Amino acid sequence: MSEDTKKPKNLSRRDFLKTTGGVAAIAGMTVGALAGTAKESSAAAGPMPKKWDDAYDVIVVGTGFAGLAAAIEAKNARATVAVIEKMPVHGGNSIINGGDFCAPDTKLQKAAGVQDSAELMYKDMMKAGQYLNQPELAKTVAYGAKDALEWCESLGARFTKLGFHGGHSVKRANQTVNASGSEVVNKLYDKANAVGAKIETRTKMVRLIANKDGRIVGMEVKKGYKFPDENSGKTAFIKAKKAVILTSGGFSRDLPLRQLQDPRLNDRFESTNQPGATGEALLAACMAGAMDLQMDWIQLGPWTSPDEKGFGHVPLFCERLVGYGPMINPKTGKRFFKETGNRKERADAIILVGDPVIIMGDSYAVPKQVFPNALQKGMEAGAIKKFDTLEDLAKFYNMPVDVFKKEIDRWNSFVEQKKDADFDCMIFPDAKPTVTAPFYAARLWPKVHHTMGGLVIDKNAQVKGFDFKPVKGLYAAGEVTGGVHGAVRLGGVAMADCVVFGRIAGKNAAKEKAWG
Ligand SMILES: Cc1cc2nc3c(=O)[nH]c(=O)nc-3n(C[C@H](O)[C@H](O)[C@H](O)COP(=O)(O)OP(=O)(O)OC[C@H]3O[C@@H](n4cnc5c(N)ncnc54)[C@H](O)[C@@H]3O)c2cc1C
Repeated sequence: MSEDTKKPKNLSRRDFLKTTGGVAAIAGMTVGALAGTAKESSAAAGPMPKKWDDAYDVIVVGTGFAGLAAAIEAKNARATVAVIEKMPVHGGNSIINGGDFCAPDTKLQKAAGVQDSAELMYKDMMKAGQYLNQPELAKTVAYGAKDALEWCESLGARFTKLGFHGGHSVKRANQTVNASGSEVVNKLYDKANAVGAKIETRTKMVRLIANKDGRIVGMEVKKGYKFPDENSGKTAFIKAKKAVILTSGGFSRDLPLRQLQDPRLNDRFESTNQPGATGEALLAACMAGAMDLQMDWIQLGPWTSPDEKGFGHVPLFCERLVGYGPMINPKTGKRFFKETGNRKERADAIILVGDPVIIMGDSYAVPKQVFPNALQKGMEAGAIKKFDTLEDLAKFYNMPVDVFKKEIDRWNSFVEQKKDADFDCMIFPDAKPTVTAPFYAARLWPKVHHTMGGLVIDKNAQVKGFDFKPVKGLYAAGEVTGGVHGAVRLGGVAMADCVVFGRIAGKNAAKEKAWG
């Protein structure tokens, strides 16, 4: 018999999982990542429960932007909905995020005279993503972002400032009133409660349960789970009559999993994420037959500071200053890279420098651009410093003073001409030369920020299996999915991604025919 004839034809997802190939692929993926949860991994292929403890039409895993948006839409479509969250509080990374929501043609853009379009946003996403984005998914986000933002506004979220993120062609980051994702999450949370979704914290999804046809029919959870104690909590089984929606976020805090995908990302690199940003729910989906993609595209934030923990305040200082102030390598006293370059370009350039670099601005640029709270808190934390003269600043960072001052003169000449002859940094029309004391500066060193890869979904937010067909009864949205952003996620596009696809997932999951 030839090799060809030995291969089963029309391999179903279930058949695939029974083959060596499938098991090996999955086993390979789970090594290390589940080191601390071996009990759960062996249970993954386990049997149907004898009885279900609870039953809902739709079960959503995760309480970030994607999960709450999905829950509201599923509830609006008259499904019964439970949202589970393993942490003691709701919100995930969404509640600690910087509140920048990229969308084209918005009110804030119109007020600022910015010309934009969904097509331009799509092109920017594809270019930054090195064309590894699934075009259909990127397009769905770019073309759906404005409506998603206005939907958040209709639920009470306020966006009051327009900002820029490296890699975008125009200013299109609509920032929330408090420069935090909490403004959106809390409005979504209130709405989800108001429409009657049941939200349960300290409940961890351990495994998905499939019936004999491979349809996802529910899950095993641990109720009363106390992160990160894997022995805490009581096992329960929840039936999903229509579908499960995975919105469990990314895995930036999952050291074994992220190092398996990108071995450079050891503990030298901190993360901006909340501690629960780990990948076990994603892997549980893979063990139930879902396919993953581009897991090794893991984004480092180039704007984080080694002088504060987690995300901190410096990102909001740095990102507002790019295009208004220079980024300097203290070893040389000179600029070294395009300040408005995308995240990957800048993080790679800083890692090449080998030590923290600085971003700086003067007393024109900083009060104009930086949210006062971020400046004050960054200064209180000691991560943002204030100097009376350029000499003081140079001495503090051990820079060659004369070289540095000449470099600032050169930068200022570029600002006057609105053209950077050295690195082609975008210089905004209202930027002015960096001359007015006092000066402010912060050190930058990258931290692990976003995982671009994840579960394969289609434009209906339906998860695909290893047979390239939808996994019946399984939807996903937000950072747990892959393909929207390709190699590099542009700043402010995760909010758009999560709300656009969260809503799609919620609507479509509610339309499924109940299995029992
Ligand atoms: C500090 C920071 C700032 C950011 N700023 C911006 C910004 O300004 N603009 C922008 O567009 N993007 C930003 N991002 C990225 C963006 O916030 C995230 O990509 C987005 O919040 C992800 O949302 P999500 O709904 O997919 O997941 P999350 O908000 O992370 O929610 C997932 C939830 O699922 C829970 N969960 C995980 N596994 C399980 C399990 N097994 N059982 C039960 N629950 C589970 C997690 O605990 C978590 O609460 C930022 C990210 C960070 C970390």
